[in-house]
Amino acid sequence: MDYKTKYKEYLKSNHWREFRQRVLDFWSNQCALCPCLAKEVHHRHYRSLGKEVLTDCIALCRVCHERHHQSLLELRLSTLPEYKALTSERHHFYWNRYEPFRIEHEKAIDDYRFYRKPFIHAQELLWYYKKINQFDIKIEQLRKDFFNCTTTVLELDL
Ligand SMILES: [Zn+2]
Ligand SMILES: [Zn+2]
Repeated sequence: MDYKTKYKEYLKSNHWREFRQRVLDFWSNQCALCPCLAKEVHHRHYRSLGKEVLTDCIALCRVCHERHHQSLLELRLSTLPEYKALTSERHHFYWNRYEPFRIEHEKAIDDYRFYRKPFIHAQELLWYYKKINQFDIKIEQLRKDFFNCTTTVLELDL
């Protein structure tokens, strides 16, 4: 049995059901993060699975629970080496290549306006836009892949 299956089995056990109720009672059914009614119990960590003490878990409402897992996932995504490399590459491209070009381009437009100096930046500008767009598509794809294979985490400790 893999970890996730084991964990799902555990969540169906009487032990967990009773403990879960104790956590909700401890928090008087109030969400730890907002004034709403708490109906879910969140594991702050999984080290003590099966022998949890009250401080290992908190009571949360549905919305805060989802949001909490979402931000944990965002945090994990931001530490992925692939994601880090790609976003930093985009950052460098944007500020070290595109931005100086954009400034130069704007100056060229002014020169054209005031002195009718012709300029031929259009193709180049398009190239920059395309390049940035390619970064965004790759980053978006990575996010999608990451969230697709981790969405089950969201159901874990409901
Ligand atoms: Zn809440
Ligand atoms: Zn949780």
